Amino acid sequence: MADQFPELKPAARILLGPGPSNVHPRVMKAMASPVVGHLDPDFVKVMEDIKRMLRIVFRTENEITFPVSGTGSAGMETVMANLIEDGDEVVTGVHGVFGTRLAESAGRLGARVHKVEADWGRVIEPAQIEAALKAAKNPKLVAIVHAETSTGIHQPIEEISELAHRYGAMFAIDAVTSLGCVPVEIDQWKIDACYSCTQKGIGAPPGLSPVTFGPRAMESIRKRKTKCRSWYFDVALIEQYWGPDRLYHHTAPITMNYALYEALRIVIEEGLETRWRRHRANAAAFQAGARGMGLELAAQEGYRLPQLSTIAVPAGIDEMKVRAALLRLFNIEIAGGLGPLKGKIWRVGLMGEGSRRENVMLILNALEEILGSMGFEIARGRALSAADRAYIAQGLGVGEPPSGD
Ligand SMILES: *Cc1c(COP(=O)(O)O)cnc(C)c1O
Repeated sequence: MADQFPELKPAARILLGPGPSNVHPRVMKAMASPVVGHLDPDFVKVMEDIKRMLRIVFRTENEITFPVSGTGSAGMETVMANLIEDGDEVVTGVHGVFGTRLAESAGRLGARVHKVEADWGRVIEPAQIEAALKAAKNPKLVAIVHAETSTGIHQPIEEISELAHRYGAMFAIDAVTSLGCVPVEIDQWKIDACYSCTQKGIGAPPGLSPVTFGPRAMESIRKRKTKCRSWYFDVALIEQYWGPDRLYHHTAPITMNYALYEALRIVIEEGLETRWRRHRANAAAFQAGARGMGLELAAQEGYRLPQLSTIAVPAGIDEMKVRAALLRLFNIEIAGGLGPLKGKIWRVGLMGEGSRRENVMLILNALEEILGSMGFEIARGRALSAADRAYIAQGLGVGEPPSGD
């Protein structure tokens, strides 16, 4: 019977999509540590250290900072379910899959949702948010995606945060793809609540969603007239387990917390600034290389994410065939477009562990090879030399990896 179910042997892929990204071997090793009880003193120490390290990475002093048991979407539901009560007015930015999801979640929780939309691949302008805040009678929350992984847009948020507060609303962001890749300044930008994940910029497998709630958000949670709609994601209950009371709420995923612990140690060892610089350097080289071979970048210029580049699929090319060839011939995963961008773009992630010079050169070479074989006119070798020039322009010699590699 058992021979029908062979031992697991998944391929060791080079993950250059929108997540999950490759996991550091040190993180895999940490996951092999013994499972202890969720109230074991050794695990309590891990919990406390994770909270401290998350505060460093989120750049916050927020006491209520912990990983929700679940993927990034669980963090989204935690933020929304705790901040929203029936009939609350919520302004959400919608310019991609994840903003759409945010609005959907707010609506399901009973909010009156004011959607502020932009074309997929462009930023939302602060003036649009201000118009929605004016139209709302009593806006309670503004929520927006910082790094829209479906379009490659790096949404500026400081001005939107200021507007939200000026109109008396709280401000929450989706930092699922931004944390660990680009600056996320929770305290400096006056962000009241934020959620992220483990499998994109942080370098651990999927399974936890770090969240942080500031004093205004906690005050609003304490003053709720009705209980949080979700029992599992009720911060007032979870706080009693992650805080000094250590009351059982649910069994923490022990092994995933080991993974997050080690991944955060690696982030802090590298240093956030160094890590942001590494992401910028590799993205600049990849984007220069892609243009060098004649491809066009899809996201609005000036607002392109370093950790996730979107490329327009050239006319006459079947984008799915390109991805299949990348996987078969080069062992590389990238992603296609979603929703209105399906068939129109590729999404190439250089995030966390994956943001490396060798990966930039590999994916450019592989794309050149495959697109060339499909009849796309390419001047051979242009991509790699353009990428090299981009590294040199950033003060990095040929073959010299950006710091952190
Ligand atoms: C991946 C992603 C999510 C969802 O996270 P899951 O871990 O897949 O649940 C939410 N928002 C953004 C911007 C993402 O990229």
